[in-house]
Amino acid sequence: MDFKFENEDEKFREEVIDFIDKELPWNWRELDLDAEDDDDKILVRQFKKKLGEKGWLTMAWPEEYGGQAASHMRQVVFNEEMAYRGIPVGDAGIRMVGPILMLYGTDEQKKQFLPQIAGAEINWSQGYSEPDSGSDLASLQTRAVEDGDDFVVSGSKIWNSAHADSDWMFMLVRTNPDAPKHRGISFVLTELEGTEGVTIEKIPMMWNAYRGLATFSDVRIPKKNLVGEQDRGWYVGAALLDFERSGVDRPAKAKKVLEDLVQFCKTTQKNGRLLSEDPIIRRELADLAVQIETTRLMCYNVAWMQSKDLIPNMEASITKAYGTEMINRLYGLGVKIMGIHGQLEPESKWAPLAGRIENAWLRSFGGMVAAGTSEIQRSVIATRGLGLPRG
Ligand SMILES: Cc1cc2nc3c(=O)[nH]c(=O)nc-3n(C[C@H](O)[C@H](O)[C@H](O)COP(=O)(O)OP(=O)(O)OC[C@H]3O[C@@H](n4cnc5c(N)ncnc54)[C@H](O)[C@@H]3O)c2cc1C
Repeated sequence: MDFKFENEDEKFREEVIDFIDKELPWNWRELDLDAEDDDDKILVRQFKKKLGEKGWLTMAWPEEYGGQAASHMRQVVFNEEMAYRGIPVGDAGIRMVGPILMLYGTDEQKKQFLPQIAGAEINWSQGYSEPDSGSDLASLQTRAVEDGDDFVVSGSKIWNSAHADSDWMFMLVRTNPDAPKHRGISFVLTELEGTEGVTIEKIPMMWNAYRGLATFSDVRIPKKNLVGEQDRGWYVGAALLDFERSGVDRPAKAKKVLEDLVQFCKTTQKNGRLLSEDPIIRRELADLAVQIETTRLMCYNVAWMQSKDLIPNMEASITKAYGTEMINRLYGLGVKIMGIHGQLEPESKWAPLAGRIENAWLRSFGGMVAAGTSEIQRSVIATRGLGLPRG
């Protein structure tokens, strides 16, 4: 098997790097920008618009939907270079809503949303989880009652990005409470900004960020915003999760973090000796290098499957579980190497590497929960992948 990219893709990689070097308005070597942070989001959006103008955000989409019909592997090259530099481009619109609308959307929905997503003009929030529904998502209770041309929606959606400049939410709602739980759910799109009956609260996380709690009180959602068939939304929502779970951004980002840690160890002394001379640290860094490379190849496998129109299911779950746990081990190692200073927050002038490792380490626990916990991913691998009976 040949793991090299095509020459054309490597040329494209150079073009992307060149563009970033010239156009990126912040120093990616020093800063980690968070697309949901109040200050950072403006910069991120402006840069994404530039990428949108080049058609790069959605290059693998078909031309009829505003894409460039580029190969999945070319998209991988782009995603790798962005993630390596910590540029948060792969939002929910690009990765999830766009592909879902291509599969299930009406012509009107495609016309309205796809160009806005491709041009980075619209931000999406994912309204799946509820205060009492997470892993057992099909137990969700947000109710949508038909009334003329609208659904009237009441309930709460939690842990989402509604608080962070999101314009729209794609959400799962219960349209038929009498049907078996997977069969009475519908997938709808709702505008958040300025919609009567929507309240959004911020929930502080243990790292420097928030998640959103959106409460809906008799919110009217036009029926034209239903995606797929009414009461069959579970299958639309589940297909979307397959798009959500693949992701080469993790090993690409991890590579940069490992490089930073190696550099730190080469230039920092403890007890009169460089950290890079400590055999335990050397071995642990080398072990992480192997794990990062392993994750990268797993992600290439998922991308390759997508390029062959195969649906990565167990493979995407393997990548998600292993990739998020690898990220947690990597940042955990960083905090350990930095010793007592490793626990300092980004605001502290004594924090090594500007506190980026500590903050990302705390965040990495959330990574193992968001989009389906590691336990749920292992269940998918056991049942759908290995054919084991349900526990
Ligand atoms: C950082 C972050 C971002 C998120 N972003 C979003 C978002 O944008 N939109 C959105 O809708 N949701 C989002 N979520 C929510 C996320 O999808 C849920 O937290 C997740 O699905 C788990 O649900 P829960 O929190 O209700 O935990 P629970 O489902 O109550 O799980 C609690 C524990 O029990 C375990 N468990 C539960 N069921 C099983 C089982 N059957 N077998 C084995 N173990 C089990 C879980 O693995 C977990 O350890 C986000 C979460 C985080 C942390």
